[in-house]
Amino acid sequence: MTWPPSSTAFFPSKTRKVAFDYDVVIVGGGPAGASTSLHLGRTQGIRADRVALLDKAKFPRDKPCAGAVSQLGIDALRAVGVTITVPHVPMCGVRVLMNGAVGETSCAMGIVVRRLAFDAQLLDHARTLGVHVRDGEALSGIRRVPGGFQLTTSKGIVTTRLLAVSDGAGGPTRKLLGISEPARKGHLYVLDTAALATDTGVARGFADFDLSILEDGLQGYYWDFPTVINGHPSVSRGIYHANLSPSSDLKRALGRALALRGVDIEKTKLRPFSTRPFVASSTLALEGALLVGESAGIDQATGEGIAQAIVMGAIAARHVARALRTGLRSFYGYAEEVRSSRMGRHMLQSAWLANRVYGPWGGPARRLLLTSSYARAAGMSWYNGQSLPWSTKARLGAGLVLAI
Ligand SMILES: Cc1cc2nc3c(=O)[nH]c(=O)nc-3n(C[C@H](O)[C@H](O)[C@H](O)COP(=O)(O)OP(=O)(O)OC[C@H]3O[C@@H](n4cnc5c(N)ncnc54)[C@H](O)[C@@H]3O)c2cc1C
Repeated sequence: MTWPPSSTAFFPSKTRKVAFDYDVVIVGGGPAGASTSLHLGRTQGIRADRVALLDKAKFPRDKPCAGAVSQLGIDALRAVGVTITVPHVPMCGVRVLMNGAVGETSCAMGIVVRRLAFDAQLLDHARTLGVHVRDGEALSGIRRVPGGFQLTTSKGIVTTRLLAVSDGAGGPTRKLLGISEPARKGHLYVLDTAALATDTGVARGFADFDLSILEDGLQGYYWDFPTVINGHPSVSRGIYHANLSPSSDLKRALGRALALRGVDIEKTKLRPFSTRPFVASSTLALEGALLVGESAGIDQATGEGIAQAIVMGAIAARHVARALRTGLRSFYGYAEEVRSSRMGRHMLQSAWLANRVYGPWGGPARRLLLTSSYARAAGMSWYNGQSLPWSTKARLGAGLVLAI
């Protein structure tokens, strides 16, 4: 038998006669969808022309995002043969700010990309591989048929054995499949400006997380990240509210934070966005379909999900390939593997931490982050996807007790 085999040969006789347009349709061409398609072709030996990737947008398309990609995401892309070639800037360290006080720690934290170019680069890799990238084609309906799905798109009908759902926080697929939201969505605003004289951290490549917005009854942070727009050093600014309890005026808090930096909110165009957190009860799979990236959920404490989406795409591809080889359509093992992977455990810890750091009892944790370079360095290792040894956890625990 030649490799890669026609996946049709691996399906049990009951489904073998059904002709499907594709073995897998991936809905959504962001980092999650692109990563899933790349891993299917490059590491799982699945015939790329049996994989379609639908996206309602024509690429290159922008995505509201600050564009911070941790080392975890960079490493995961490198492992599948992708070196990031689009313009980006390194994040050389972190600064935690709170009511005028600043704690800073230098460390490599990854890079900041522009999503317009970054997502297009990933999708180009999928195209080159031979994946049928059908951008500018929106999914609008899903019907289960024996052995697969019939999809209605803006361009007609497409049939597939398996479905990988990666249409992010706002796509329609979860609703079409009857999956309810497991938790309240986080809220964000984002904007870009030229670098200003007040951007003392960003000028040195630091990513700023300002926790002062907690005073406004919000749960999250205001950020200033270094970025590059059309070759010019710029700043991505914004506010993330994990929305753990119903509150408050996000825009007013953003306005105050911007004013401190010399930016007039009245002169900016703002639109609210939301993120879906990954929590213990998040749905990851249904019969014949699995959820990847933000369609499943992202890190609740940071509101970030690019690296997580890329890593989840690698796991998803393994399980899709296994389903094609065995004909078994249950993705139970996928949900288990995501939750128990380091990335999954980090996201679950993050959901736990969001309450501990941003909630009413989070004072000691916030003080520790502000005052302890050890705590910030540990936080950055964790952000980059590393596990913290027990000795570090114990030292952090002791630091928390002292910070009470
Ligand atoms: C303001 C803001 C700032 C953020 N900053 C960061 C950050 O700095 N770092 C970080 O890691 N994360 C950040 N995030 C989160 C990050 O943007 C997401 O986690 C990430 O994009 C998830 O990738 P994804 O591939 O799962 O989904 P997406 O990137 O959202 O991709 C989903 C795709 O699905 C497509 N789609 C939607 N509907 C349909 C349809 N009907 N048919 C076909 N296709 C469809 C969309 O066009 C889109 O291309 C931020 C989010 C926001 C809102």
